[in-house]
Amino acid sequence: MTIPNPAATGIGLPATGGPRLPQEPRLHTEIPGPRSRALAARRVGAVARGVGETLPVYAHAAGGGVVVDVDGNSLIDFGSGIAVVSVGNAADGVVEAVREQIGRFTHTCFMVTPYEGYIAVCEALNRLTPGTHEKRSALFNSGAEAVENAVKIARSATGRGAVVVFEHAYHGRTNLTMAMTAKSMPYKSGFGPFAPEVYRMPLAYPYRWPTGPDRCGEEAAERVIELVRDEIGAASVAAMVIEPIQGEGGFIVPGTGFLPRLAEFCTVAGIVFVADEVQTGFARTGTMFACEHEGVVPDLITTAKGIAGGLPLAAVTGRAEIMDAPQVGGLGGTYGGNPAACAAALAAIDLIESEDLAGRARRIGEIALPRLHALRERYDFVGDVRGRGAMVALELVRGAGDDSPDKVLTAAAAAACHRRGLIVLTAGTWGNVLRLLPPLVIEEPLLLAGLDLLDEAFAELAARRQPPSPARPEG
Ligand SMILES: *Cc1c(COP(=O)(O)O)cnc(C)c1O
Repeated sequence: MTIPNPAATGIGLPATGGPRLPQEPRLHTEIPGPRSRALAARRVGAVARGVGETLPVYAHAAGGGVVVDVDGNSLIDFGSGIAVVSVGNAADGVVEAVREQIGRFTHTCFMVTPYEGYIAVCEALNRLTPGTHEKRSALFNSGAEAVENAVKIARSATGRGAVVVFEHAYHGRTNLTMAMTAKSMPYKSGFGPFAPEVYRMPLAYPYRWPTGPDRCGEEAAERVIELVRDEIGAASVAAMVIEPIQGEGGFIVPGTGFLPRLAEFCTVAGIVFVADEVQTGFARTGTMFACEHEGVVPDLITTAKGIAGGLPLAAVTGRAEIMDAPQVGGLGGTYGGNPAACAAALAAIDLIESEDLAGRARRIGEIALPRLHALRERYDFVGDVRGRGAMVALELVRGAGDDSPDKVLTAAAAAACHRRGLIVLTAGTWGNVLRLLPPLVIEEPLLLAGLDLLDEAFAELAARRQPPSPARPEG
């Protein structure tokens, strides 16, 4: 196979990424193009099969709301590398801060010879997370590691062992977090035995709650409280860990009242209430943290993904007396709070605050949600539309009155978007949720262009499912 050189065809691959990349969708080749296909072929012989991929398009540069692939195609990014590059890919402030830091030192290990950046990130987290109580933070490398450490800290502080988690939860892929994650395939299947003392509770899932969405939050909370009291014993529970909006589980916004009621129960029962805000944190949902939507103040909060503009960093933040429970040397890790990642986080947090990215996230929701609701009006296979801010999704079902999840259709919808140069992700225990996570800095024309591509993709799906095709959307 000959691989056309984009430079030779006058396309030219950009030498750098960042916000100055042209913010436009542009396809020169089919998706994936020849260079991506060549890399995909190389990958088969080098990379373990278990590492999945959403679309086999290989990145060359990225910035703002686009990813430019190795064939010179400019794709609209509605994925942000899974809610990571909220401040934009290769954001100027982040790139400069990292350059400056790595020019001085790349690593010393905070546990050997510490440095200021780590402290500054902890101060920022203590300031930004909900609640005015005295707080402490500790830094790690990944979301899973943060969740594991939150459980360690809660156990150390309470002297109890059990951990309560929820249906459709996703907390990571390490042994303890696999036990906490709900979905078997592909996350858990074949990887057990799992850590003990992890108990799964019903989630207030409005779309599928038997008595309907209005009573869901309250009824589900009472059910959880009963189960914790009667079947685990509240006095055995160290921590209740919950995503304020579930991420991989399908962008499920729990029924109103569910989170506050559980938080209140935990306070009374001496259970550490942990909000896993790894995906929802850092302005993604229109507030700095998603638990703010219902005024919930967690005891501990785990963060990662959006924290550092694409560099690996994670944190646990919470009440000083809980955070300070573990013995000296009990928390840490070689790379946790790496100086380059800390520099990136400080720059990213600065951008989130100074550019009011929470406001941008709300605006994205105001634009995207009506468009998704319009899709639900138009197509009976769109069962539910949900989310907050720049974390919104469509749940796809069989249609014609049948609300069974339709994973095959969802995969086809994602593929139809990908072919058009729109990066979207799927999610959900049944793989039937199409989720949108654009960078918070995405320009409005590009956001609208992406939503137009989504419309086209759905029109194509509908035409394939039940000809004659429905009317094309206006605009
Ligand atoms: C992604 C995610 C994790 C795991 O984070 P990693 O950095 O992939 O280990 C944990 N919790 C939630 C809510 C997540 O979305």
